[in-house]
Amino acid sequence: MSKYDYLVVGAGLFGATFAYEAAKHGKRVKVIEKRDHIAGNIYTKEEYGIQVHQYGAHIFHTSNKEIWDYVNQFAEFNRYTNSPIANYKGEIYNLPFNMNTFSKMWGVKTPAEAQAKIDEQRQEMAGKQPANLEEQAISLIGRDIYEKLVKGYTEKQWGQKATDLPAFIIRRLPVRLTYDNNYFNDLYQGIPVGGYTQIVEKMLASDLIDVETGVDYFGHQAEYEAEFPKIVFTGMIDQYFGYQLGELQYRSLRFETEVLDEDNHQGNAVVNYTDAETPYTRIIEHKHFEFGKGDQGKTVITKEYPADWQRGDEPYYPVNNATNNSLYKQYAKLATETKPNVIFGGRLGQYRYYDMDQVLHAALVTVAKEFGK
Ligand SMILES: Cc1cc2nc3c(=O)[nH]c(=O)nc-3n(C[C@H](O)[C@H](O)[C@H](O)COP(=O)(O)OP(=O)(O)OC[C@H]3O[C@@H](n4cnc5c(N)ncnc54)[C@H](O)[C@@H]3O)c2cc1C
Repeated sequence: MSKYDYLVVGAGLFGATFAYEAAKHGKRVKVIEKRDHIAGNIYTKEEYGIQVHQYGAHIFHTSNKEIWDYVNQFAEFNRYTNSPIANYKGEIYNLPFNMNTFSKMWGVKTPAEAQAKIDEQRQEMAGKQPANLEEQAISLIGRDIYEKLVKGYTEKQWGQKATDLPAFIIRRLPVRLTYDNNYFNDLYQGIPVGGYTQIVEKMLASDLIDVETGVDYFGHQAEYEAEFPKIVFTGMIDQYFGYQLGELQYRSLRFETEVLDEDNHQGNAVVNYTDAETPYTRIIEHKHFEFGKGDQGKTVITKEYPADWQRGDEPYYPVNNATNNSLYKQYAKLATETKPNVIFGGRLGQYRYYDMDQVLHAALVTVAKEFGK
């Protein structure tokens, strides 16, 4: 008999939230994590007084008050507003597409002038059914914005030509006819002062929780299944089942981080490179996520390169197209039928493009099912 009630595989946000809530219900939990640190992809580490987002820019945003209050138990959030900049061959534009973008692109000043210009540009696709991503984007926003701000970035992200990508990838392109560079429409938004890792540290701090890093579940799968009455698995569901129904697709990323001997490299946390030639999609300058932080004369930047995924690579993004979603459903059915004591959760366990607030919500739904409200 195990001294634990649960084994949680993965010390990311889903696993940590589950462990925290289980401990509140008096359960004993063992958490294992294959990386050498906790917090999964939200892991931040301090360098030169700057919280460096180790796995890409993470901005917390939600309209769900309950989730906002929940996460605020674990950290104080600043009033960071995500307003990325696009750099197209040295031309600078504001994102998301708004009056600042249109004014720079076309010299328009009023919303009516901008709308007229967009309508004129969209005429190119009038009456035609978009057959691919390129045509879809032009039908939504017109060629100028597409060529400078969508095409190169999207092609780098997907590793494919826009004319070979399906139209459905871009269902809509948000257009805002105000001078507002706030990327998100959510009510609440911010960055935890002091970084994200503390959130997971506090979640896992209970005496009822033991954490072991540097341990891969698949090194001991049979023993774990025999020992633990229940398992919460937040890794890849297809890997759990030995890919027996086939492989789900993922996209990966490569990060290149540099410390620079300057105070301010790019003047903004996130700059997207929207041309096709620059090999990375964006540069993050971490000190701009928190105001007034960082040693003098030092800054840390990370270049983000999209990458194809093969077994063994980090699966950063599920590719939620119809084929993969249907394969995922078969895995979910297999899980229900053959593994009643395993709960699959999080981005990889549920094969869903969850943001942090959605992962928290999904974990709390699981908790409610397991322990009641
Ligand atoms: C580049 C990038 C940028 C993002 N930006 C944002 C953003 O701005 N805002 C936002 O809200 N969300 C953002 N997200 C999403 C956010 O990272 C996720 O919602 C969240 O981290 C998911 O938590 P999770 O616990 O499901 O998964 P993860 O964080 O992936 O945690 C799963 C953990 O399980 C471990 N694991 C897997 N397999 C095994 C195994 N076999 N044995 C042991 N351990 C294992 C992994 O190492 C990992 O630590 C971003 C994601 C990425 C990749």
